[in-house]
Amino acid sequence: YKGIVKKHTRKDFPQDPKEQLFLAINAVFDSWNNQRAIVYRRLNKIPDHLGTAVNIQSMVFGNMGNDSGTGVAFTRNPSTGEHKLYGEYLINAQGEDVVAGIRTPQPIQTLKDEMPAVFKQFTETCRRLEQHYKEMQDIEFTVERGQLFILQTRNGKRTAQAAIRIAVEMVEEGIIDKKTALLRVDPDQLNQLLHRRIDDKYQRTLLAKGLPASPGAATGQVVFDADEAEELGNAGKKVILVRPETTPDDIHGIVAAQAIVTSRGGMTSHAAVVARGMGKACICGCEALKIDLKAKQFKVDEQVINYGDVITIDGSTGEIMLGEIPMIEPQLSDEFQLLLAWADQERKMGVRANADNPEDAQKAFEFGAGGIGLCRTEHMFMDLKRIPIVQKMILAEKYNERKEALDELLPMQQGDFEGIFEAMQGFPVTIRLLDPPLHEFLPDKEELLVEVTKLQILDPASPDLKKKELLLKKIRQLDEFNPMLGHRGCRLGMVYPEIYEMQAKAIFYAAAKLADKGLEVQPEIMIPLVGHVNELKQMRQLVIDAAEKVQEETGKQFEYTIGTMIEIPRAALTADQIAEEADFFSFGTNDLTQTTFGYSRDDAEGKFLQNYIENKVLAENPFAVLDQDGVGRLVEMGVKLGRAAKPALKTGICGEHGGEKSSIDFCYKTGLDYVSCSPYRVPLARLAAAQATIRHELNKEEVYTTA
Ligand code: PEP
Ligand code: MG
Repeated sequence: YKGIVKKHTRKDFPQDPKEQLFLAINAVFDSWNNQRAIVYRRLNKIPDHLGTAVNIQSMVFGNMGNDSGTGVAFTRNPSTGEHKLYGEYLINAQGEDVVAGIRTPQPIQTLKDEMPAVFKQFTETCRRLEQHYKEMQDIEFTVERGQLFILQTRNGKRTAQAAIRIAVEMVEEGIIDKKTALLRVDPDQLNQLLHRRIDDKYQRTLLAKGLPASPGAATGQVVFDADEAEELGNAGKKVILVRPETTPDDIHGIVAAQAIVTSRGGMTSHAAVVARGMGKACICGCEALKIDLKAKQFKVDEQVINYGDVITIDGSTGEIMLGEIPMIEPQLSDEFQLLLAWADQERKMGVRANADNPEDAQKAFEFGAGGIGLCRTEHMFMDLKRIPIVQKMILAEKYNERKEALDELLPMQQGDFEGIFEAMQGFPVTIRLLDPPLHEFLPDKEELLVEVTKLQILDPASPDLKKKELLLKKIRQLDEFNPMLGHRGCRLGMVYPEIYEMQAKAIFYAAAKLADKGLEVQPEIMIPLVGHVNELKQMRQLVIDAAEKVQEETGKQFEYTIGTMIEIPRAALTADQIAEEADFFSFGTNDLTQTTFGYSRDDAEGKFLQNYIENKVLAENPFAVLDQDGVGRLVEMGVKLGRAAKPALKTGICGEHGGEKSSIDFCYKTGLDYVSCSPYRVPLARLAAAQATIRHELNKEEVYTTA
């Protein structure tokens, strides 16, 4: 080590303790700006200006012989949450040896046999620290010649599964209350639990087995360094990073990989801790792997696995298998359900899901959605069997032709709606009438042009040519400079009322049929992209007429409401006028972000947004995290004006932001009745909505007591 110091500083290692101390202090301060700290902060959204502190404590030595040692322990299992001391130690070693994974340590339980008195004192100290902080602790300790020293204690990082179990069990043990438990689990972490696992139906041919360092399963191509992992990962490839051990310099590769495997190091090694925090599958200390970084391969006995070969790993068992194995969706634990039930008791906001078909609606229902907040009907048009009929409808020159195609589509749409209503068992279902520009249902213009040109040259007599030329002509007619600002949303219904009429009727026939079966239905018909009250007025009347026709025809009565999306700034600015014609508002913050910033939602992220975020022009990607200062103000204005005109107006959000925790907090503050997000984000939204309620109530209490 002295040699390394000399090589890099061209000076001898200083012998004055004071100089050593100040160099060490500066090294810690400087570490704030090293590359891996910057990557870590970006990943965990820690502001750069925060800075770090330096603790100074006297040195103790774990490497003074076999009555010395050092280790790391968690007061509960950080993988599963089990209430049992968990950790490892090394005899005659310093802390660095444990964390760096250079030697594979022993489980903490064996310390009981090796140093019974130290073990007893240590377990008692762990218990006291946990009681004091009312949180699971991650404790570093050193034993110097039989005497125990606690070097550090902090709240332990844990998997989502462990976070939930610990929070729930701490309530049961009387350590914390339910509200505290709800605040203890990061909504983003819930994603980990919704991860896939290997289907047990399939046989696993074991290649090797290591330590189950972080749960979950993954398949990918083997890579051997972090830069390669990043490069391939960014190119959309699934890779598994295999290393002897990882260091903080590998962080970018870990981020890009599906999973991590190391041949050395224990459950508290760098790879294990980092992967667990990220919810990635990880296997550590798999010593059967003989890794040759130069040759880019590893061997298990005589079997050679090369760079690029596909493996599957199970982070919950530590097993590594060759090839790809089918996976299945996760099931949620009792503690998970209990915590979410507590969240439901606390939250004041509804949570719905965005779902376009009965399967997704079913999933949403299982995840606890209280309704569908957005059913995008265009997705039903995209079905392979239906697209020719949709195209026939679009290409029709005359009303009758179009009507014929629409009549063919009607029963298909009706079937979808029936399925969704049934899956939601009486909960409200918001169905949005057709939204995208019609050219989205037609073939790509440039590809078609190539085909037509080829036919014109090679086979001008082909009967296909006429058809294709006609199609090309129609596509050119529909072509727009700015299709997202073009003929889409309610503008389609205004020009082709028969399209919206067909959709409204399909919804009402489905409602009538289910009402007949005695099933409750609550259809909410939503008109997209309204910018002027007159658009909504006209479309509302069209929907009412369709309902009356269906009621008359079927003799069945059903309830329904009609509302609009607020996704154009003008709609938010004139929300009082629009509310006169609406039973509900649903903020379409995807388009509202696009139109407020004037950023194309299809291009901005790939073109300049990354630059804006890196240069701190914007703190976050506004398409992922709601821009509260700008777009949020329009939402506030929309709610306020809308409610002033119609106090009973229902309000919600169905843009992507409805499943993002800070945006959900904003929705609560703004007084929205519900958020709507993709089915897999429903548990996250239920928890985030509860946290928003608790957090703001706590703030209110603070304000009250200090006032
Ligand atoms: C929106 O614009 O926020 C929205 C939900 O609609 P879409 O994403 O379908 O445009
Ligand atoms: Mg939209």
